[in-house]
Amino acid sequence: MTSTQDPTPSSDLESRIARLQRLVEISLILNSTLELEPLLRYIMDAASEMVGSESASILLVDRNTRDLVFTASSSNAVADLIGHPVPREGSIAGAILKENRAIALDDVRDDPRHYRGIDRQLQFQTRSLLGVPLSIKHEVIGVLEAVNKKQGRWTQENRNALLVLANQAAVAINNAQLVNALRRAYAELDQLDKLKNDFISIASHELRTPLGVILGYASFLKDEAQGESSAHAQAVFRSALQLRSIIEQMTNLRYLKVGEAELQPERVAVAALMRSAEGDIASLAATKNHTLTVRPAPEDCFVMADPIRIGAALGNILNNAVKFTPAGGQIVMEAVVRRPEVWITIRDSGIGIPADQLEKIFNEFYQVEDHMTRRYGGIGLGLSIARALVVAHHGRIWAESPGADQGSTFYICLPLAVDMSDSSAGQ
Ligand code: ADP
Repeated sequence: MTSTQDPTPSSDLESRIARLQRLVEISLILNSTLELEPLLRYIMDAASEMVGSESASILLVDRNTRDLVFTASSSNAVADLIGHPVPREGSIAGAILKENRAIALDDVRDDPRHYRGIDRQLQFQTRSLLGVPLSIKHEVIGVLEAVNKKQGRWTQENRNALLVLANQAAVAINNAQLVNALRRAYAELDQLDKLKNDFISIASHELRTPLGVILGYASFLKDEAQGESSAHAQAVFRSALQLRSIIEQMTNLRYLKVGEAELQPERVAVAALMRSAEGDIASLAATKNHTLTVRPAPEDCFVMADPIRIGAALGNILNNAVKFTPAGGQIVMEAVVRRPEVWITIRDSGIGIPADQLEKIFNEFYQVEDHMTRRYGGIGLGLSIARALVVAHHGRIWAESPGADQGSTFYICLPLAVDMSDSSAGQ
């Protein structure tokens, strides 16, 4: 048999292949579109193109109210209806939803289920309609309708094509809705995070003022008191200092997510940073009779740093050195220039850190000590905050320890200020 004798099967086959290819294209686009509005628009255009209709509409079941809502239409004439519920009883879309099957009507005017309300309100004429359920597994999430066939009547092929499209579309719509819900949840989380940060900064600010008064008088009493009262005043002073360090950590909590853009860097002498940190920790170290030795960097050693933030990082490490070293210990802070960096080390003679914990201690809320047998207190954020701050300065921070009761050393490396980093600059 030659093709001249029977041209129909081959051209029919070709057009079926072309339709399938188009369907594959459509399916690829559906799978890669996660924004709901453009997705719905694309589905409606594809529906009209595949079945030759003037327009198309999508009705979706509201997840909360379970109403069938007129969600989108490719015809501007019905734009006013968007967002309005359509009665489940007494509408064709409602019947499609309920019966979970396609309904094709070549003349809707004769069908009692046609929801005339729509046409009446908008002076829009629905002549014919082909609607299919949008379903995922057994759940029907809405209805896809092709409205007003341009030529002739709906065919079985139209019905099949729209059903295939609806199956793909339902999954894509569901995915886009999930992504939207996730975005909303993230936005709510952001809002909660802001609330938490505001609360922490207000609370820590309000706590700091009375604490300043307590510290001032406790320090005065400690110097004046004699005998037993001297020990009591010492205890009050020590506890007030501990409280101050906890409040500082609370304030620093927002630095956990610090980005480079939030820093206010200036050209600052490393020696000045070290002396300021020494001044902040000296009285706490004295309450435990530690010897605090500071060998600052050379006066002409500069870094580009936000002094408050780097000060907070140094403060957290020094605070730990005091806390995790039994009374009468040694704490040494020193700096060496190793171009193009300066290395600040803080060494203590304290309880040490097991080798397998040296990296974990920089995780948020991680503490070597078991929560049930806590002796040292703290909230497990100091080192993660210090690391976030140092990394934001393009630096590195890590810990080393020979083992239990053999002390620990913390390293903070910061890039030297640009004019310092070549070897001709001052030592
Ligand atoms: P916190 O001190 O509030 O527990 P950090 O994040 O500052 O939280 O420290 C995490 C953990 O790392 C501490 O709980 C402790 O187990 C360990 N650690 C930190 N610094 C030292 C140190 N100098 N000596 C021994 N262990 C330390």
